[in-house]
Amino acid sequence: MAEDYILAFDQGTTSARAIEFDRWGAPGMVAQYDLPQHYPDDGWVEHDPADIWRLTVKAGQDIIAARGRPAAIGITNQRETVILWDRTTGEPLHRAIVWQDRRTAATTADLRRDGAEAMVTSKTGLLLDPYFSATKIAWILDHIPGARDKAAAGQVLAGTVDSFLIWHLTGGTAHVTDATNAARTLLFDVDRQTWDEELCALFRVPMACLPNVQDCAACFGTTAAGIFGDPILIGGVAGDQHAAMVGQAAFAVGEVKSTYGTGCFALINTGTRRQESSHRLLSTIAYRLDGQPTYALEGSIFVAGAAIQWLRDNLHFFEDAKETARLAAASTEEGRVVFVPAFTGLGAPYWDPHARGAIFGLTRDTQPADITRAALEAVAFQTADLLRAMRADAGDITRIKVDGGMVANDWLCQRLADILDLEIDRPIVTETTAQGAAVLAGLTVGWYSSLDEAADARRTEAVFGPKMRAEDRTAASARWQDAVSRVLSGPR
Ligand code: ADP
Repeated sequence: MAEDYILAFDQGTTSARAIEFDRWGAPGMVAQYDLPQHYPDDGWVEHDPADIWRLTVKAGQDIIAARGRPAAIGITNQRETVILWDRTTGEPLHRAIVWQDRRTAATTADLRRDGAEAMVTSKTGLLLDPYFSATKIAWILDHIPGARDKAAAGQVLAGTVDSFLIWHLTGGTAHVTDATNAARTLLFDVDRQTWDEELCALFRVPMACLPNVQDCAACFGTTAAGIFGDPILIGGVAGDQHAAMVGQAAFAVGEVKSTYGTGCFALINTGTRRQESSHRLLSTIAYRLDGQPTYALEGSIFVAGAAIQWLRDNLHFFEDAKETARLAAASTEEGRVVFVPAFTGLGAPYWDPHARGAIFGLTRDTQPADITRAALEAVAFQTADLLRAMRADAGDITRIKVDGGMVANDWLCQRLADILDLEIDRPIVTETTAQGAAVLAGLTVGWYSSLDEAADARRTEAVFGPKMRAEDRTAASARWQDAVSRVLSGPR
């Protein structure tokens, strides 16, 4: 029956997905298309905006063709990735510069040397790192001939992927974004909830390029006739990690969710008062409803599942990521191989854009299974680094809610419990990112009267408890710390 579901778009780093959700939070049909990646230089990562658009629409059309018209659309997206486009034609000025891209490392290093970080952090909760959007926007304006002049004349629009999709979905009528996506740009004051003139001047981004910022549950516009048949309301938007907080129902202060996809992102709910980190975590907006932000501390790891993709595509160790659980279990060595997958630098809490990956402890009998196991263990070790910082900032943590493509892997979930020494709670629906977008749209169309009502949709499927001996954990962590110290680019 039509209009009895919400169509959630999850425009991720590696794919465009559309998923049907009913009002009880159960997913139905899924349409998914892989997104081509472009690596034009060392540390550069790009997507073609035409692919993002075409594959998103195709995924949506697949669902609507089978299920009829949805009650509303929710959108969640890879964050920080930027697209600039012509206000009249919609033509992109350049490929999307993806969050993982490090090309602006020199710019952020210069700004840090100039002493700008304290002001930037106090307004945005973020750090000076090429990960965020601002320097990527400026790079496009600086490298496309005439772009700055066009921008000055108001002819260029900039946005994160949500903003780009909504602009096109609404036939070029709505240039909007939500507070969580805005909070990742380095241009948004997360206390005052507004684009900031001083930040825009510092990063040389004209304010006229930027979208209007709305709550996560709001009317973002309606789809232009023809794309999906009759117009449909776009009622919910949040960056992927923020949508996952909603999908995981991490609404209480102190709740942690950790998402394992291409990268890994752990967020802890810190409530309606923003808390600054003393341990190089980010302070960000978890979600914003009725103008009221709920804040979070966040640890970001750039490479988690991406290391598994690399083993599959570059080293041809296996054909399907699913095989990694069996391979890791078959590895007979006890963690002598340590893999630091710093392909695009290291994120929290190291923030070293110049670090690069390394594998240590290789011997004549090292097998693909051992390196695969080390790639999965690296995910657990990096999460442990984040949680150490989180505990120091925000107090004790005893359980984390996990999701994302990687947590289908039982071996990884058990390793997480072992290395982190806490309970790993895996929900029935691991598509929590898309589920969160659906919940936000559901709030807008009145399916739920509050977040708490929507929380019923989240159910635990399995809990993994720690089984590792404390001395083994300590020894494994020491090997990891030693390996990390060897890939960092400078003295700390
Ligand atoms: P994203 O939203 O970032 O595109 P997903 O949440 O879809 O990512 O997760 C995909 C990632 O998870 C890929 O990097 C893939 O290599 C990895 N992955 C998928 N299944 C498994 C598995 N069973 N074990 C380990 N890694 C996996």
